[in-house]
Amino acid sequence: MSEERKTIYMDHAATTPVDPRVVEAMTPYFTEHYGNASSLHHKGRDASDAMENARETIADILGCRPREVIFTGCGTESDNLALRGVAFAQAESGKRHLITTPIEHHAISHTMEQLESKFGFQVTYLPVDSYGVVDPDDVGRAIREDTALVSVMYANNEVGTIQLLGEIAKITRAKGIPFHTDAVQAGGSLDLDVDRLGVDLMSLSAHKFYGPKGIGVLYARRRVKFWPMQTGGAHERKRRAGTENIPYIVGIAAALKLAHEGRESENGRLIALRDRLIQGVLDRVPDTQLTGHPTQRLPNSASFVFNYIEGEGILLNLDMLGVCASSGSACTSASLEPSHVMAAMGFPPEIAHGSLRLTLGKGSTAEDVTFVIDHLPGIVRKLREISPLVDSESYAPLAAVV
Ligand code: PLP
Repeated sequence: MSEERKTIYMDHAATTPVDPRVVEAMTPYFTEHYGNASSLHHKGRDASDAMENARETIADILGCRPREVIFTGCGTESDNLALRGVAFAQAESGKRHLITTPIEHHAISHTMEQLESKFGFQVTYLPVDSYGVVDPDDVGRAIREDTALVSVMYANNEVGTIQLLGEIAKITRAKGIPFHTDAVQAGGSLDLDVDRLGVDLMSLSAHKFYGPKGIGVLYARRRVKFWPMQTGGAHERKRRAGTENIPYIVGIAAALKLAHEGRESENGRLIALRDRLIQGVLDRVPDTQLTGHPTQRLPNSASFVFNYIEGEGILLNLDMLGVCASSGSACTSASLEPSHVMAAMGFPPEIAHGSLRLTLGKGSTAEDVTFVIDHLPGIVRKLREISPLVDSESYAPLAAVV
């Protein structure tokens, strides 16, 4: 890409730039306040004080006790700790049944698969509707005597759909079953009050809300039993051993505070941009659908399927124009797997392959949205002209597709 071409970054669900105010808050903890939080001398106490301040800041936002906040290495680790930790603890009393959805991030789905195939747990996957929403009544129907944990994500990373956590929590609470949510995509924009949501465990990751990569939080409600996955020192009250990463802990707290304080106004701005983007694309590109829920979706998330073409082709063409976007398909070494999220929502593979995710953020402007609306129709037209799935004269789908 030429130097002078502006980058239009529309991939904030993948990651976000670190806010300079967060960098500023973190910086002294690399070189000045470098102590080990476990040391008894004043350098250690400085580090430990900074960590406990960060824990309190996060606890205030989550509406929980500071000791219920556990620092981890990332969102993936928080998910792994919640699932495996609770599953192993519950198995001690014979509970070996887990409930989740087929649209979770791989940090959940691959952990569930391993618990099932290697550790003898049984997993129930709840159905989702065509918007990717779980019916809370299905949770009630899936619960058994031996259910150890329910895990349902807060907001989906591919299509932005937000789940009815409060409704699900009423059911899990009544049955006394721990309820975990992967809130990694929701951390920067949605309500994180754990009592209002009714969750017992919640995963967060700083790099999705303008904090650094490689630091996460697991909220774990008091009395929810789980095994630590890392054993060693007595860090994090013996729930996650390993010398604490103080600069990053300061960073995640600073980033969450900024996100929380600016949430209302930024959400309003993003929703207006998102809706213009969605409408513009649907109006100007034929044979296109919005994926995910039309209204109950993340403020920054617009996602589509374009019939007859592959999302990767769109991504490459957008990238040539300086636009960073993402597709729902995951490339594996040998083949191009259609997204498991799209499959669960009922999209056939040939349609799911044509998915595109555009996720806005702090730096996104009305001009960026206009640019994409102006250039996407031409890209899709060009790709359809050379698509083996469509008759290039009439644009009618070939028999294989329908
Ligand atoms: N869960 C969801 C929903 C995500 O979107 C992601 C990252 O994309 C993760 C978990 C993993 O978080 P991390 O990148 O911090 O490991």
